[in-house]
Amino acid sequence: MEDIRNIYCVGRNYRLHAAELGNEVPKSPFLFSKPTHAQVAADGGEIVLPAGQGEIHHELELVVQVSRPFEPGMKVDDAVGSFALGLDLTLRDVQSELKQKGHPWLRAKGFKNSAVLTASRPFPGVEAALQTEFYMLKNGVEVQRGNIGDMVFDLQALFDFTAEHFGLSTGDILFTGTPAGVGPLADGDLLELFWGGERLGSCAIRLR
Ligand code: ZN
Repeated sequence: MEDIRNIYCVGRNYRLHAAELGNEVPKSPFLFSKPTHAQVAADGGEIVLPAGQGEIHHELELVVQVSRPFEPGMKVDDAVGSFALGLDLTLRDVQSELKQKGHPWLRAKGFKNSAVLTASRPFPGVEAALQTEFYMLKNGVEVQRGNIGDMVFDLQALFDFTAEHFGLSTGDILFTGTPAGVGPLADGDLLELFWGGERLGSCAIRLR
């Protein structure tokens, strides 16, 4: 994805994921953001992540990029130019600590290389995306699989909400939430991200 501006992320947007972490399903979209310095490409190389701060969880998500100024009520299909798969990497133990203190999640969600992005493709439209499953292999074993039909808030609701409260325009990207199956990464893990039958990206994890 090119010329990324704001990086928005949606929390707890799949029921089974909310349940696996013991969280309630929110009644309205629940958003946070990451600094642009968080972005890194899953282009087959190594991705260095911080060691010694507890578990780092993978959250596999559909990521869409906005290609024109969006106002609430516009159609998502008219505003999304491209999509990719992403990993909303999370320092889970740090996040738990921050939650307890009532502090913002930035340290847990916004660290360098915490927004992993595969190669992008032209967005095929919501209907086509509903027909496609995305999944991730960790060391050759499937760990997460999702379909946007399982979202609590669909793309239209997420776009309307984001545009109304924060603004949404050209270059902004949205991580749309993770399905169940999140889990910790270890040094040397090989991750491969698939959209339908196509492998959009891969990376090797290096904890340092
Ligand atoms: Zn996430």
